[in-house]
Amino acid sequence: MNQPATAPCMQHPQEELLRSERLPHIWCSGCGIGTVFSCVLAAIRKTEYPLDNVAMVSGIGCTGRMAGYIKVDSYHTTHGRAIPFATGLKLARPQGKVLVASGDGDLIAIGGNHFIHAARRNIDMTVICVNNLNYGMTGGQQAPSTPFGAKTTTSPTGSPEEPFDFCQLAAACGAVSVSRWTSIHIRRLTESLTRAILKPGFNFIEVLAACPTAFGRHNRMRNALDNVKFFHERSVIKNNIDPREAPLDFQNALVVGDFVDRERPTFSDNYSLVHSNQLGEWPNLDKNAKPS
Ligand code: SF4
Repeated sequence: MNQPATAPCMQHPQEELLRSERLPHIWCSGCGIGTVFSCVLAAIRKTEYPLDNVAMVSGIGCTGRMAGYIKVDSYHTTHGRAIPFATGLKLARPQGKVLVASGDGDLIAIGGNHFIHAARRNIDMTVICVNNLNYGMTGGQQAPSTPFGAKTTTSPTGSPEEPFDFCQLAAACGAVSVSRWTSIHIRRLTESLTRAILKPGFNFIEVLAACPTAFGRHNRMRNALDNVKFFHERSVIKNNIDPREAPLDFQNALVVGDFVDRERPTFSDNYSLVHSNQLGEWPNLDKNAKPS
C-alpha cells in the first residue's frame, strides 16, 4: 500500500554513509560539528567515488567522533596522530581517497608538527579542521585557536595569547588548496569539500563551528542561535586571496572563502620520480636540464 504523502520519512538522507547503529551521536544540542559532518557526507556522495575506496581518519576530540559514525573504512586514532595514520594509509593504498577529520586542538596543538610536514610533503589527503576555538571535549580549555581575550576554563579572565591562523599556516607549508568556512555556509562548504576530495595533494579546509557547551557559555554564545547570529553578522566571503589578507578578526570580520588553489607534485609523484633514476646529480648545474 502506498504511504500517504505526509508520512514521516524514517530514513536519514545520508543513511548509506551512516553507521546508524551508533546513533544517537554524542554531540551537544547546538554544536556545529553535526552540520559539518553532514556536509562531508554530502561531498563524498557528490564525488561519486566508490565508498570502499574512501577512508576517514580522526584523532581525539568531539570532531574525532566523525570517524565512528561514517560508514566507510574509518580509524579513530590517538590524540594528534590522525595525519600520520592517514599518511600510512595513503602510501599503503595509493588508489584510496583519505579524509582526515580533526578538531583545532587535535590537529594544530598536539598534532601540529604532523600537520606542517604533511602539507610540506604534499601528501594526498583532505584535511577538515572543525575549529571551535577551544578543547571542547575535555572541558573547554584554552587552545592554540582561542582568540585573544576569549574566556575559557583555563583562561577565565581572557586568553593572553594570539591564536594560530590555520589557513596561513597551511598555505605557508605548501597545501594545494586552502579554504575557510563556518558551519552556517553549508552549500559553499560542501562545494569546497567536493573539490578538495577530488584534487590530488594536501587539501585543507577550516570550518569555524559553534561549541555552545564549552566555549560559548563563557563568551556570550550560549546557544545555537547566538552562534549562527555571530557567524552571520561577521562573515565576509573573499575567494582567491592570499590567506594573509584574510585574518580572523572576531571583533569585526571573519573572512571566509576558497583562498588557495594551486598545483604541486604530490609526495607520491616525487617519490616515483626519485626512484626512476631520472634526476641525475644534485645539484644539477645545467640550468636547462629538467627531469622528464
Ligand atoms: Fe560540540 Fe562543544 Fe559539545 Fe563538543 S563540547 S559536542 S564541540 S558543543
